[in-house]
Amino acid sequence: MRIQTFSAALRTFTTSFGHRSTPLVTKATARRLPFPISRSTTLKAVPGIPFLGSLFSSSAKSENQENNMSYPDQRNNEEWRAILSPEQFRILREKGTERPGTGEYDSHYPSQGVYNCAGCNTPLYKASHKFKSGCGWPAYFDSIPGAVTRHTDSSFGMERTEIVCSNCGGHLGHVFKGEGYPTPTDERHCVNSVSLRFQEGEGQEAKAKA
Ligand SMILES: [Zn+2]
Repeated sequence: MRIQTFSAALRTFTTSFGHRSTPLVTKATARRLPFPISRSTTLKAVPGIPFLGSLFSSSAKSENQENNMSYPDQRNNEEWRAILSPEQFRILREKGTERPGTGEYDSHYPSQGVYNCAGCNTPLYKASHKFKSGCGWPAYFDSIPGAVTRHTDSSFGMERTEIVCSNCGGHLGHVFKGEGYPTPTDERHCVNSVSLRFQEGEGQEAKAKA
């Protein structure tokens, strides 16, 4: 009895939301059923569970969609795995984070050169953008124009701004603003060393200056 009531409520609920893709308990079949719908059937039939779940995680979902937007470099995970180390894959493609103070470029301050994306080799930051933040990860106050794309990241109960490579969507880290660093932008691009590959001064930056 209670289960039938629930099914009816569910039907109303799904109908009102226009969610008809799982009509296991339609009005017609409900009328034909000679017995109350079994518990297991009801559980299997409940479209409300995943549907409600998606309602509650709507921000994460839209964020994922945003992150799946088209980047020029459309390599799939299999192709990335073939060229990236497991750690690079974890960070670039699965949005991981390296442990603070461990990264190759944390205390790396060359006078010139460019930090490229470790995935697709696109130039992202110039050596002149780098500054000492003391945060444990490479910090840049700016990027090469257009090289880095920002997304809202609502994971871990925080509202942060994720930064990814504009060419391949590879995860770089996060950008923070208004922390009071004495830099031209007062922004800190907090980037995983694993996401970067340094290229000596005669690279893109030198060409751009020439
Ligand atoms: Zn890239």
